[in-house]
Amino acid sequence: MNTQYLLASRPVDGIAADEHFRAVQTPIPEPGPNQMLTRTIYLSLDPYQWNRWRSDPDVVGEVCHGRTVSQVVRSNLTGYEAGDLIFNTNGWQEYGLTGDGISVFGYMFPRKLNPSIAPISTAVGVLGMLGLTAYAGLVVQCAPRAGETVVVSAASGGVGQAVGQIAKLLGCRVVGIAGAPEKCRFVIETLGFDACVSHRSEDLAGDLDAACPDGIDIYFENVGGPVFDAVLPNVNRGARISLCGIISDYANDDFESAVANWFARGEPTFSQQNVTAQRLSVGNFVRDYQDRFLAEMSAWVQAGQVTYKEDRWPGLDQAPSAFRAMMAGRNFGKTLVRVSEDPTLPSA
Ligand code: NAP
Repeated sequence: MNTQYLLASRPVDGIAADEHFRAVQTPIPEPGPNQMLTRTIYLSLDPYQWNRWRSDPDVVGEVCHGRTVSQVVRSNLTGYEAGDLIFNTNGWQEYGLTGDGISVFGYMFPRKLNPSIAPISTAVGVLGMLGLTAYAGLVVQCAPRAGETVVVSAASGGVGQAVGQIAKLLGCRVVGIAGAPEKCRFVIETLGFDACVSHRSEDLAGDLDAACPDGIDIYFENVGGPVFDAVLPNVNRGARISLCGIISDYANDDFESAVANWFARGEPTFSQQNVTAQRLSVGNFVRDYQDRFLAEMSAWVQAGQVTYKEDRWPGLDQAPSAFRAMMAGRNFGKTLVRVSEDPTLPSA
């Protein structure tokens, strides 16, 4: 049988709870013409899933969406055979059917994975949507120059870790913003950031001022709320801001107003300081930058110049708890669920 997690009710407010998810058992499906049956190995949990569930009433009753790393069990699709490892979108279930050329947010699925380049879990992390988000928002939108000061919030998270490390490779001074002291230590000691300040400080704006003696040239925004307000007084004239996410408002009853306020709060600074601030929709960059990103980022990862921390949860039954923990900031690194055995690992 196939264990699946369905979206039981549309989350209209508040934060994810058990009542939003329902586990069911269904027969493992048979692949039709031009389809393959795949076994989910890793399921990616991402804050955007929450927004999708909140905004689309049609997804109630469906298998919860999620990007996955899977292994082909049986294939009727030319070019794929049993045993192949692929990046696809099985969602929150143990087995799924995959056809050819399915496009989600501009990504084409499936994509074959080569475990000799990097561990296959990176396809849902640093070599997947998260890495491309960091690359598109930093390298493409903000065009960093050596010597500039880059600040990134949610610095120890999936996107933040990649942003900071790429900025270091490009010769920038990099300052992270994170919550817990161990997250701040991690981004300095393991990821090589120059400094990290905690958003739990009573004077975040003052701490940023001290950590950025030459001001802020680039801000990669993942959080919104008071963190955004503390950054704005410290940005330099002509700074660039990539508005990537506002996770502090994802549980807000009126999310659309929160997004509008996000822009409105920044607007006086943007106009007075001649700041370029652009909302980042990574889907817009997939077609134009995916190949360049994959080539450059794979080389950095293979050379050990970009590293990554994963927050792994064992078993599909952990997915609701893992999702809640991530949305509450209790994750440490890129959140993913190991749904079944990874055949590329030595213990497998
Ligand atoms: P993540 O950073 O791994 O996890 C979220 C982190 O956000 C938590 O660990 C927590 O870190 C921080 N956080 C949560 N609530 C907070 C609050 N109220 N105040 C301050 N920090 C808070 O998640 P991710 O997947 O890498 O995503 C990061 C951001 O990028 C999200 O906003 C996401 O929606 C956005 N994103 C956007 C796109 C796009 O196309 N625009 C694509 C991918 C991701 P601390 O413990 O350090 O506070």
